[in-house]
Amino acid sequence: MSDLNVVNAAEVAVVADRGVSRRGRDQRELDLIADGAVAIRGGRIVAVGRTPDVLKEWGEDGVATLDASGQTVLPGLIECHSHPLFSGKRHAEYQLRLDGASLSEIAAAGGGIWSTVVATREADDRTLMAALDTTYARILAAGVTTLEAKSGYGLTPAHELHQLELLDRSRAITPLSLVISYLGAHVVPDGVGADAYTSEVLETLPAVIDQGIAAFHDITCEAGLFTPEQAASMFAASRARGIRTKAHADAWASSHGWETAVAGGAVSAEHLTYTPDDEIRGVGGTDTIAVLLPQAELVYMTERRANARLLIDQHVPVAIATDYCSSIHATSLTTTLGMAAPWFRMTAAEVIVGATLNAAYALRLEGDRGSLEVGKRGDLTVLDIEHPNELTLAVGQSVVSDVVIGGEIQQREPDRRTR
Ligand SMILES: [Zn+2]
Repeated sequence: MSDLNVVNAAEVAVVADRGVSRRGRDQRELDLIADGAVAIRGGRIVAVGRTPDVLKEWGEDGVATLDASGQTVLPGLIECHSHPLFSGKRHAEYQLRLDGASLSEIAAAGGGIWSTVVATREADDRTLMAALDTTYARILAAGVTTLEAKSGYGLTPAHELHQLELLDRSRAITPLSLVISYLGAHVVPDGVGADAYTSEVLETLPAVIDQGIAAFHDITCEAGLFTPEQAASMFAASRARGIRTKAHADAWASSHGWETAVAGGAVSAEHLTYTPDDEIRGVGGTDTIAVLLPQAELVYMTERRANARLLIDQHVPVAIATDYCSSIHATSLTTTLGMAAPWFRMTAAEVIVGATLNAAYALRLEGDRGSLEVGKRGDLTVLDIEHPNELTLAVGQSVVSDVVIGGEIQQREPDRRTR
C-alpha cells in the first residue's frame, strides 16, 4: 500500500462530492486550492489542503514526495465510455466516408460495426489481449485512472460472455481500474431481426449476471437498431434482475433514446447528439448522467452536436468521454476534454467535472473516486499547466505529467520529481 505526498501544486482541484452529481451552475466549480497538497497513506487520501498545512501533519521523513510546482492536480480522470476490445481495421471505410459515402453504403459494402464483429470473433485471445495492452497504456498515459470498458463486438451469447471474461482477465495487465459493461444490444447482427435479437439478449442476461463480471447492462435505443419499446423491455428486465443500466441513445437520429433511458432508470445515457431540445426540456432535471462524446460527433461528421448547454440549464449532470472504439481511436481523454469545451461551449471546469466527479457517478463509484477528499482512493492526474482553465487552450497537446493510482505513480514524465 502506497504512501505519497503531492506538494506545492499551483492548483489542486478538489471537486468536492456534495452527495449528488454536479448539475447546473454547480458543474462550474472545481473547489480550487492554491499552493495545494494531497497526502496519501495506504493508498487512501488522508489530507488535502494548502501545502504548509498538509505538511505540518503529514510531512514525515521517508515518504515519497511529488513536487507539483507550477502544475495542476486533478482527481484521477475517469473515462466512462469505451469499447477497447476489438480486432480489425476500419481506416479504409473511413476514407470512403470522408469521400462522401453514407453509413448505409458503408454497411452495404461490408463495413461498419459488423465488420469489427466478424474480425473480433475470428481473433485469438492473445491477439486481443495484446491490443488491449497497447490501448490501456495509451489511455493511462493520457491521464486516466479508471476506465469503463464494454463488450459488444461478439453479439452471440457465447461471444459476449467470452468478451466479458477477456475484459475481466485484462485487469491483470493494467493498473487502470476497469468497470465492465455488457453491451449485447450494441447493434442487431446481420441476418437476425431486432425482435428476435432483443429476445436473445434478454435470454443471455441471467448468464451475464451469474458470470458476475459486468457492472452494467448497456442498451442501445437507436433508430434502425432497437426501438424504444425493445429498449424498454431490456431496461425492465435488467431492473427486475438487479443489474444497473446505461444507454446508447440518439447518436444517429432522434430515437426517443434520452426519455426512454431516463424512464428506464438508466444510470447514464450516452451520445444524445440528436436528442431534440423539446425532449430535453420535457425530461428536465434527472439523476441520469448525460455522457457526451465530442470525438464521436467529429469523426462521424454528424449534422448536429449534443445540446450540452440546454442539458446543463435543465439541471442534467453532464459527463464527457472519448468513445474509444474500432472507428474512433481516441485514447486521450485530456485531448477530448480540451476539444469538448469549444465543441459544446462548456467551460474548463464543466468538462473537468464531467471527467471526474460526474464520470464517477456515471459508474456509481462516487463513494470511492471522482474527487480529492479524505477517505477516497489516492487517484490523481497531474497536468503541466498552472491553472485548469489552460486545458482548453492546449487541445491535442500532451499536458499530462503524472498519473497516480492508489498512491502509486503509474506514469511519469521523464526526469520527473520524486525524491
Ligand atoms: Zn459507444
